[in-house]
Amino acid sequence: MKAAVFPGSFDPITLGHKDIIDRALPLFDKLIIAIGVNVDKKYMFDTATRMKMIEAVYAGEPKIEVTKYEGLTVDFCHANKLHFILRGLRNPADFEFEKAIAQTNRKLGQIETVFLLTGPETSFISSSIVRDIYRNGGDISALVPTEIMKFIS
Ligand code: ADP
Repeated sequence: MKAAVFPGSFDPITLGHKDIIDRALPLFDKLIIAIGVNVDKKYMFDTATRMKMIEAVYAGEPKIEVTKYEGLTVDFCHANKLHFILRGLRNPADFEFEKAIAQTNRKLGQIETVFLLTGPETSFISSSIVRDIYRNGGDISALVPTEIMKFIS
C-alpha cells in the first residue's frame, strides 16, 4: 500500500491545503494528514479543533486519516512505516525552505518528499493571512473550506 503523510500546522486548514490534498489523493492509497505539535509555537486554533476541522472537510473520504505528532517528521514516518512526505510549493521561498528539509529527511531517514505545485487559484492563500483576517474581524470564507466555518465563532 502506498501511503504518505502530509505534515503541517493547518492553523487553520485552507483552500490551498485542500488543493494539494485533493490532487494527492489519486497518487496514494492512504494519506495521513498530521498536525505537528510544537510546544514552543503559539497557535490560533488548538490541536483538537484543527483536527476536527480537517476531519469535517474529509468526512467520508476513506483514504484520509487525521492525526497529530510531536518531534521529527522522519521519526513519525518510521513509527508508522511511511516512506513518503507530501508538501505543497507556492513560491521560490517555499522551495528554498523545503529543499533543505527534504534533502535532510532523505539523508537521515530515507524518506522521499513529494512536492505538488499550488494551483494558481490558491497560490496566494496562507494560514497566516487567514489568521490575520480572522483576528481583525474580516471574512475568511473565500479562503477556507466551507466545512470549517462552523468551528469559527
Ligand atoms: P508548516 O508550518 O509545516 O509550513 P502549513 O500548515 O503552513 O504548515 O503548511 C503545510 C503545507 O501546506 C506546506 O507544504 C505548505 O507549503 C503547504 N501549503 C500551505 N498553503 C498552501 C497553498 N496555498 N498552496 C499550496 N500549498 C500550500
